[in-house]
Amino acid sequence: MSFGLPPEALGLRGKVRDFVEAELRPLELEAEMNEGRIDPAQRKKHEAWAIANGITLMDVPEEFGGKSLPVLTQAAIVEQFGRVTNALGWCYGEAQAWMFEACTRDQIERYIMPLTRGRRHFCYAITEEHAGSDPSAIETTARNEGNRYLINGEKWHVTSYNLASTVIVQAKLESGAHCLFFCPANAPGLSVVRSPAYAHTYDHHHPILRFDGVAVSETDRIGAEGDGMGFTHSWFRRERLMIAARCCGAMERLIEDVTDFARSRVVSGEVIANYQLIQAMLADSVTDLHAARLVTYEAAAAHDRGDDVKSLHAKCSIAKLFASEAAGRVADRTVQIFGGRGYMRENVAERFYRELRVDRIWEGTSEIQRLIIARSLLKRGLEGTLK
Ligand SMILES: Cc1cc2nc3c(=O)[nH]c(=O)nc-3n(C[C@H](O)[C@H](O)[C@H](O)COP(=O)(O)OP(=O)(O)OC[C@H]3O[C@@H](n4cnc5c(N)ncnc54)[C@H](O)[C@@H]3O)c2cc1C
Repeated sequence: MSFGLPPEALGLRGKVRDFVEAELRPLELEAEMNEGRIDPAQRKKHEAWAIANGITLMDVPEEFGGKSLPVLTQAAIVEQFGRVTNALGWCYGEAQAWMFEACTRDQIERYIMPLTRGRRHFCYAITEEHAGSDPSAIETTARNEGNRYLINGEKWHVTSYNLASTVIVQAKLESGAHCLFFCPANAPGLSVVRSPAYAHTYDHHHPILRFDGVAVSETDRIGAEGDGMGFTHSWFRRERLMIAARCCGAMERLIEDVTDFARSRVVSGEVIANYQLIQAMLADSVTDLHAARLVTYEAAAAHDRGDDVKSLHAKCSIAKLFASEAAGRVADRTVQIFGGRGYMRENVAERFYRELRVDRIWEGTSEIQRLIIARSLLKRGLEGTLK
């Protein structure tokens, strides 16, 4: 389905798909059986490909040498990276358009552009033990001491900290306002409390981090004091949309693989694709994918049309809510059609069955997405929410 994608977008989508199929997919099993790890040289090679092919520049404004691709094209590209398991698709650093509005020229030079060249890797520390769905409840503090801030607190589930050079940390100022800061991952006073195991098998860990009087320069504050929550919302919108896109890629892969299986697996003298109960599961999965892709592409296209930010916020929530729940249903049906094979870790369905679960939790749970959508409906009406 092309959703009116222009030829350039179709070309890029095809190129990324070829890369994902040829370079990433063959490594899934190695990663699954090796705690998510692959040969570091391979990881570097994947990042180099993404850099050479402009993937890290897709959301970067042209004045900084970026490609500033339409958001619809970006969603179609990211969808392809969603086709593989074990986070092998997370092979590049993503500089996002909002960062160029939030950061100073100096920060763009020191942090954001090096991210696009693979010279820096970020992780994001917002969630805390008692502040997940409600980030306004964070207790981590940043005390202003002239030309620097001292950060104290504990952050949970910090994805990719083990591979990161820079932590973007959200903290509360004495005024109660929120702020984001760039902080070196090896800053004195920053330590790992513990690194729990999670359901998926990723090389990207999610440790609990302790900040004990970690000093960050005033020049590493992102935006003005009090801008923190606004930037976090920009980040959420982008992430929710791209989670939806990756879920579409995962559903597509699952449906393709299980259809091949259903066409060849013979039970009681008949290929199972001929059984109508199997056909019903396949049909429901195709319907889930088609609907999820339509809401995702439409939310992306709404960015390109310049819809107002409040309606974009609701549309990104709709896309994430629907696509992540649809992907969960598709993974479940796919395991069922594969039968016992679908419960083996060497099977794509088993891996996605575990991996896709978190898409209903991170960057705002399904319940939080529903609250955002309902709030938009009640404040702006149906027209204002879905225009
Ligand atoms: C693998 C993984 C990686 C993550 N990576 C990061 C990261 O890199 N950086 C980061 O900052 N965070 C990260 N997170 C945190 C993630 O964003 C939070 O887990 C998520 O926002 C939910 O917060 P919580 O876990 O504290 O759940 P809680 O907020 O405690 O919610 C518990 C339950 O209550 C429900 N609930 C909450 N409020 C309401 C309400 N008003 N109405 C109805 N139900 C409600 C929730 O939906 C949920 O079902 C990650 C989480 C995971 C699992």
